[in-house]
Amino acid sequence: MLVERLWFSYNAVMFIQQIKSHISQMLHDHHTFGDELVGKSFSRMFILSVIATPVSAAHILVFGILNFETDIEQQWRLGILLYHSFMLLLCMALTWLTRPGRHASVTAQRRISRVIHATVLVAGVVVTSIDQLVTPAVTPFLAACTVAGALFIVNPLTALILYSLLFGFYAFALSLTQDIEAILISNLVNGLTACGIAIGLSWVLWQQNIRTLQQRDLIQQQKLELELSNRQLEQLATRDDLTGLANRRMLQMVTTEEQTLMNRQKIPACLLLLDLDLFKKINDELGHPAGDELLRQLAELLTQTVRASDRVARWGGEEFAILLRNTDADQGMQVAENIRALIEKHHFELINQDGVTHEVALTASIGVARLDASADDMLDHAYREADLALYAAKARGRNRVVLRASAA
Ligand code: GH3
Ligand code: MG
Ligand code: MG
Repeated sequence: MLVERLWFSYNAVMFIQQIKSHISQMLHDHHTFGDELVGKSFSRMFILSVIATPVSAAHILVFGILNFETDIEQQWRLGILLYHSFMLLLCMALTWLTRPGRHASVTAQRRISRVIHATVLVAGVVVTSIDQLVTPAVTPFLAACTVAGALFIVNPLTALILYSLLFGFYAFALSLTQDIEAILISNLVNGLTACGIAIGLSWVLWQQNIRTLQQRDLIQQQKLELELSNRQLEQLATRDDLTGLANRRMLQMVTTEEQTLMNRQKIPACLLLLDLDLFKKINDELGHPAGDELLRQLAELLTQTVRASDRVARWGGEEFAILLRNTDADQGMQVAENIRALIEKHHFELINQDGVTHEVALTASIGVARLDASADDMLDHAYREADLALYAAKARGRNRVVLRASAA
C-alpha cells in the first residue's frame, strides 16, 4: 500500500514537473517568436475582414427582406439585423485597419488581432444565442471556434484560458434565450466540444509555427557558420601561416587579375624576389623559433615599406616575392635597393629566455624581373627571371640587388 502511494506520488511529481517544463518552454517560445507570430497572424486578418463584410451585408439584406409572422420570429429577425449592422460597421473598420500596405506597429497589430479574434468568438456566441429563439442549433458557435482556432496563432496557455472564459460566456448567453433544459444541456456539451476543438487547433497551429521559425533560425545559423568556415578556409588557402602574408597561390590570383589590366593599358609591373642571406647560419646559432620570429618581423617591415597597391607574399622558406604595380624596371631597381638598404639598417630584435632583448642584423639579396604581360604563365616566367637575378646577386657576394638583364 505504502509502495503504491509512493509510486503514485512520484508519478504525480514527475507529471507536474513535465507540465512546468512545457509551460516554461512555451513561454520562452512566446517571448522569442511572439512578435513575429503577431505579424503572421495579422496578414490573414485583412482577408478575414474582407470575407466577413459581405457576409454581414448579405445577412442584413436577407433578413431585411424576409418577413415573419410570430413575435418570437420577429424578435429573432430584429436581433440578427441589429447584430449584423453592428458587425458590418466593425468589419469595414477592420478591413480599413488591416489593409495591405498600411504600416502598423507590432503593438497595434497585436491589439487589432485581439479585437478581431474576440469579434469572431463573440459573434459566434451572440448569433447562436439569438438563434436559440427559433432553433436549437449551435452551428455559428462551432464555426466561430473552428475558424478562430485555425486562424489565430495564440500560445496554448492563452488558448486554454481564452476558450474557458468563452465557454462561460456562451453558457450564460444561451441560458438567456434557450428555455428548454434538455436542449440547453445538449448545447452546452456541444459548446464544450467546440471549445475543445478550438484549443486543439490552436495548439497544432502554435506548434507548427514555432517549429517552422525554429527551423528557419537553425538554417540561418548554419548558413552563418558555413560562411565563417568558408572565409577561414579561404584565409588558410591564401595566407601564409607564419607571417600572415599572402602566399604563392594568392599572389598567383592577384597577378592573373592584374594581367588583363596590364595588357589593356600597357602598364608595367615588376617582381622582386628577396632571399635572406645566410639564414641557415642564423637558425643554427639562434634556433629555429628565433628564425621564425625574424621572418615575422621582416614580413612586417616589408608590408610597411611597400605602397598600398604593391603586394608582398611569402614565396616559401626565407624567400619573399613582392609585386610592384605600375613600376618599370628602373623604378623596380630603386625600390629593391631601398628595401635592401632598409633591411641592412634595421634593428631586428629578439628576446631571449631571460627576457633580455638583443639585436640581430640581417641582409638580403634581391633579384628584380619585369612582368611580361604577354606571357601565358606571367608569374612563373617572372619568377624564373627574378630567381636567375637573385642567383647572380648571391654569386656576387650577397646583400645586393640585381636586375635580370632581359628586364632592362
Ligand atoms: P643564402 O645566402 O645562400 O640564401 O644562404 P641561406 O643559409 O639562407 O641558404 P638557403 O636559402 O639555402 O637556406 C634557407 C634556410 O632558411 C634554411 C632553413 O634553415 C631556413 N628556413 C627556411 N624556412 C624557414 C622557416 O620557416 N623558419 C625558419 N626559422 N627558418 C627557415
Ligand atoms: Mg633560400
Ligand atoms: Mg637564403
